[in-house]
Parts: sequence; C-alpha cells; structure tokens
Amino acid sequence: MSSENSSAEGTQRVWDVVVVGAGPAGASAAYAAAVAGRSVLLLEKADLPRYKTCGGGIIGPSRDTLPPGFDLPFKDKVHAVTFSNNGRFTRTRRSRQMLFGLINRPEFDQQLVEHAQKAGAELRTGATVVRVEQHGAAVPDRRTVAVVLQGGETVLARAVVGADGSASRIGAHVGVKLDQVDLGLESEIPVPETVAEDWKGRVLIDWGPMPGSYGWVFPKGDTLTVGVISARGEGAATKRYLEDFVARLGLSGFEPSVSSGHLTRCRAEDSPLTRGRVLVCGDAAGLLEPWTREGISFALRSGRLAGEWAVRISEAHDAVDARRQALNYAFAIKAGLGVEMSVGRRMLKAFERRPGLFHAALTGFRPAWKAFTDITRGATTLGELIRSHPLAQRALTAFDR
Ligand SMILES: Cc1cc2nc3c(=O)[nH]c(=O)nc-3n(C[C@H](O)[C@H](O)[C@H](O)COP(=O)(O)OP(=O)(O)OC[C@H]3O[C@@H](n4cnc5c(N)ncnc54)[C@H](O)[C@@H]3O)c2cc1C
Repeated sequence: MSSENSSAEGTQRVWDVVVVGAGPAGASAAYAAAVAGRSVLLLEKADLPRYKTCGGGIIGPSRDTLPPGFDLPFKDKVHAVTFSNNGRFTRTRRSRQMLFGLINRPEFDQQLVEHAQKAGAELRTGATVVRVEQHGAAVPDRRTVAVVLQGGETVLARAVVGADGSASRIGAHVGVKLDQVDLGLESEIPVPETVAEDWKGRVLIDWGPMPGSYGWVFPKGDTLTVGVISARGEGAATKRYLEDFVARLGLSGFEPSVSSGHLTRCRAEDSPLTRGRVLVCGDAAGLLEPWTREGISFALRSGRLAGEWAVRISEAHDAVDARRQALNYAFAIKAGLGVEMSVGRRMLKAFERRPGLFHAALTGFRPAWKAFTDITRGATTLGELIRSHPLAQRALTAFDR
C-alpha cells in the first residue's frame, strides 16, 4: 500500500507507517498496522534480541493483548506471593490459579517483533532515529513526515508511531509532559538449583523504606531477577535499598550476570499523545501504572491502538482529517489507560503515606488479596474494581485522607 514520491534526487519510498522502537509498544503497533495490510517499517536502534531492565511480569491484560497464536515464553508461573514490609512481617499467600507469568524480555520482545514481521512489517535494526520533521525541506508534502536517522538518512511516512521508550525523542517532539519519574535498579542473579527450587512459582514483594518504593524477587528458572524502584532523585538510597534487600535475602554471595538501571515515567494527565501525524505510545508516552510501575500491558495496549489509528492517519488526505484521527487515538487512550492511571496515582499517594496499612490489608484481609489476584490474573483492572465496588471506593477514599 505504500506510495512513491518524487523528489529532486529521484523517487523515494513513502511508508504508510513508520514505528520507532521495537519494544512491546513498537512491536504491537507494527503488528496492528501490518495486519491491516499497510506498509510498515519498524526502526530499532539496538541489535535484537536486546536486554531491557524489567521484571518481566506478564499480567492478564498483557496476555490478552498479544497477537493470535503468540506462545508466551514463560520462565515461571506464579502461584504464591510472599509480602514483607521493609523485610519484616513476612507472609506468603497462595493461589490455586496462576496469578501471572514471568518472561525474559530479550526473548519476549524478539518474539513480538517476529509476529509483526510475519504480519508484513519490515524491521531495520541498528537504526537510531534522531528526530522527526513535519515541515521543512526534508518533507515533500503536507501528508508526509520525515524520520531522520543518525548519519543523516531520511525515511518518509504518512504516519509515525513513537515507541522509543522512556528517553523518547519522539515524545520530546510531541511535547509529552511527565508528573512522575522513578528509577528502577535490577540484578539478574544466577543461583544454584537448591535456591532456585525454593523460589519456584513464588515471587516476593517488599514495601521499601522510601515513600512509594518497593522491591521484588521474580524467579526465572536458574536466575532470580531482583529489583527495587523508587522516585528518581534518591539514587544513593535506592542503590542502598537494593544492596540491603539482596543481603537480607541471603543472595549477596551470588554474582549477578547483569546489574542495570532504567527510568520509568508517568505522563501528566494533560500531556499530549499526538502531534500532527505523529503518535506516541508505551513508555514514550509516559503510559505506565503509577503505583506498581507495570508497563508491559500499557505498552502492548497503547501500541496496538497507536498502530490502528496510525493506519487511519496514513489514509487522511488533509490536516483536518489527520487531526481528527489523532484526537480519536488520544481519546481511546484517555478513556482506557488514562482512567487506570488516575486510579493508580491515587493508590500510589495512599501507599506512600501508609505502606503498613497496604501490607496489613494484602496479608490479612481476604478481599484485598482477592482484588490483587483478580487484577494480576486479568479478571478485572484497578479502575474497574474501584468503579464497581463501593467497598473498594470507600477504602481508597479513606486512604486518600
Ligand atoms: C526495573 C524495572 C522493572 C520493570 N518491571 C516490569 C514488570 O515486571 N512488568 C511490567 O509490565 N513492566 C515492568 N517495567 C516497565 C516496562 O519495562 C516498560 O514499561 C516497558 O518496557 C515499556 O515498553 P516500550 O515498548 O514502551 O519501551 P521499551 O521496552 O523501552 O522499548 C523501546 C525501544 O526503543 C528503542 N529505541 C530507543 N530510542 C530509539 C531511537 N532513538 N531510535 C530507534 N530506536 C530507539 C530501544 O532500543 C527499545 O528497544 C519495569 C521497568 C523497570 C525500569
């Protein structure tokens, strides 16, 4: 479906949709646009598979958004959660049903990209996008966006999806505004079989010492992913929390195979999601659950919507039509993920103030544990739960005070 465009240098291909970044958001967007029969180019700066600092927790909404036939490469399936409050009051709760699954990101992301390719998207790795231009010499007409790569090459598209993660260049072009930035630190710790066996099917969640912080152990066969997250700006304290956490768990003696850090970002409620023929999704748009910092389902869900609306933008014949389609995308995001984020923001505020109460509720109050299991399994979302349960509404309002 891509068109040709005459320029002074000759004829340059114009893609229907160019997607920047091949994480879950970008692969999802590329899949959605390709499956609709459009020409799609997926640009990724890294070579694939690439490492991404992430716990790799796959909750129900992530699973439900995957392309048909996608076989989740689970490293473990979680049936039990051990909760502790800064190392104390430890209690394990179990469930007969699987709560959520654990994957390794390089493998998961690679598989998503392969699905997009099978649907017809073309992948180009080692391609770093430095900027997009919607006006000026590089742009042949008003229906086209120029995507400029490092080295100076320009790629043309009718619509662009920015899915380039938390340091997004496309997000800067769109003017994404943030109201929460956190720092996540993680170690991949290979452990002996006896230790791995002890963690099989069970994760640990520890409410941390800094307001809003928490830590986790996610087992993945012979390796444990151990991480902590806290508000940015407390780098030294966050690092100390991870060290103490690892020591407390008796894991200091094992050498991590990878230790890394990454920022997570949550958009401000009035942050733009589009500019002209450019849309942003996933971390690039600041779409992330503010309390748990769960981002894979946000990336997959917003990526899919971005791919679908990018198709419509690519077909728009003038700026007014393109704008209408872009606004529809923004509306779809705000009505779904936006609502979940606003409940998540309230949860985080309440959790920052009273982590002990959250801990007591999850470990000692059946409905709170049930809500946790329903959300992780995908039977409901935080937003739905608060909307439909007067008790949950009252509890959150009480926490708010
Ligand atoms: C410590 C930590 C733990 C987490 N744990 C979980 C978890 O257990 N479960 C969960 O759901 N979420 C988790 N998250 C959040 C989750 O990792 C992100 O929300 C998710 O990766 C967002 O996906 P994305 O596709 O938007 O961005 P990314 O996965 O970051 O992908 C962006 C891609 O764009 C590429 N790129 C960047 N810049 C350019 C450029 N200029 N040109 C071309 N390509 C570019 C990058 O190389 C990358 O491949 C965690 C985050 C952190 C920091």
